[in-house]
Amino acid sequence: MKRDFDLIIVGAGAVGGALAAALRNSGLSIAILDAREPPRFSSEAEVDMRVFAISRASQRILDALGAWEAIRMARVSPYREMHVWDATGGGSIHFDCADVGEPLLGHIVENRLIQHALWEQIGNGAHITPIHPVTPAAVEFDAQGVTLVLRSGRQLRTHLLVAADGAESVTRKLAGIGTRGCSYGQQAIVAHVATEKPHRCTAWQRFLPSGPLALLPLQDGRSSVVWSLDEGRAGEIRALDDTGFCAAVTEESGAILGKATATTLRASFPLQLLHARAYVRQGFALIGDAAHVVHPLAGQGVNLGLLDAAALAEVILDAHARQRDIGDVGVLRRYERARKGGNLAMITALDGFKRLFSNDIAPLCLLRNAGLSAVDRFTPLKNAFVRRAMGLQGDLPDLAR
Ligand SMILES: Cc1cc2nc3c(=O)[nH]c(=O)nc-3n(C[C@H](O)[C@H](O)[C@H](O)COP(=O)(O)OP(=O)(O)OC[C@H]3O[C@@H](n4cnc5c(N)ncnc54)[C@H](O)[C@@H]3O)c2cc1C
Repeated sequence: MKRDFDLIIVGAGAVGGALAAALRNSGLSIAILDAREPPRFSSEAEVDMRVFAISRASQRILDALGAWEAIRMARVSPYREMHVWDATGGGSIHFDCADVGEPLLGHIVENRLIQHALWEQIGNGAHITPIHPVTPAAVEFDAQGVTLVLRSGRQLRTHLLVAADGAESVTRKLAGIGTRGCSYGQQAIVAHVATEKPHRCTAWQRFLPSGPLALLPLQDGRSSVVWSLDEGRAGEIRALDDTGFCAAVTEESGAILGKATATTLRASFPLQLLHARAYVRQGFALIGDAAHVVHPLAGQGVNLGLLDAAALAEVILDAHARQRDIGDVGVLRRYERARKGGNLAMITALDGFKRLFSNDIAPLCLLRNAGLSAVDRFTPLKNAFVRRAMGLQGDLPDLAR
């Protein structure tokens, strides 16, 4: 087949960028496309509205891709403890890195910084062609490969097209892959706030009947609010002025860090549960939010996506080394088998948590409060939870080990 690239990745977010960086020295010719220009990062600029709690497994992947050192040097915030408690009842759970013999639980990192650091690595790849700003208009499959038609009319031929274009993935839809899921009817409001008390390198999360409110520690001493709320209430909270927003955060967080004294502007993100019915077909694969979207209450979305990118890179490199067609569905199924079951288990667990904690039926409140406190006291189970969330155990791709 006459092709323009061996591999085309649509979406240069953290996940698509990680896949490109993982394959940059493979000898494969790769195009990475995005609707936007690559983000720029400056330590002088305000902290990105989108910050992620990055697990140790994600840190190891970014390290293996050569991006972690630049991220660490620029602006990250390690967190060593996590405190989760229920506003209805006295249940709570506390995780401490010392309990699992680790120096930290993870890092809070800006999305823009991860993308920027990955772009620096992608730029070192001799066979990688960035193409932006572009958007796909059609995807055509035939016996020899795949044609991606761009809105401009340009056509690109490839053996393997990877959709990494996020939750609303146009590429997934154009490839005809369906999804299961639902809207949560919620928005996550994010803002960075200054507080009276220091955050003590701790991630705080209070479960309210209306949704969880998290305070994630930032390097400059502020905390990043991630507050999930039903749409109506989210609209009201967004409309508050800074003083009103700070007062609401103070009250709804139980003033765990004292008063919130200053805030940035607010941004909001619609929340949904989504899982693709298939991750692959001949000449095609999905990774990251294009394949699965989870509630942000446990900060797992990008961590799952980076594991997808690492697992797919492993399968592609192996097939390429054996001179097999990297777009062959038999090859790609190895990636699907490695990731889909584990992602589904995480999606199901997070959805269960979300529903359990947003419920104020009295027996359920009692049960979950008792459950939280029981797990808190049962150290082996608690440590097993934390080790899995950190990516220290489980079936991990080589890049995450
Ligand atoms: C409020 C909130 C808090 C979160 N906190 C955490 C957390 O703490 N930890 C965690 O692990 N996860 C967290 N997540 C989840 C995380 O944001 C996502 O899982 C992650 O961003 C997915 O990365 P991605 O690269 O797959 O997709 P995206 O980040 O959505 O990137 C997609 C890329 O594709 C491009 N694109 C989109 N459409 C097109 C198109 N048509 N054509 C070309 N390019 C296109 C976009 O420009 C973008 O560059 C959170 C999510 C929310 C909403």
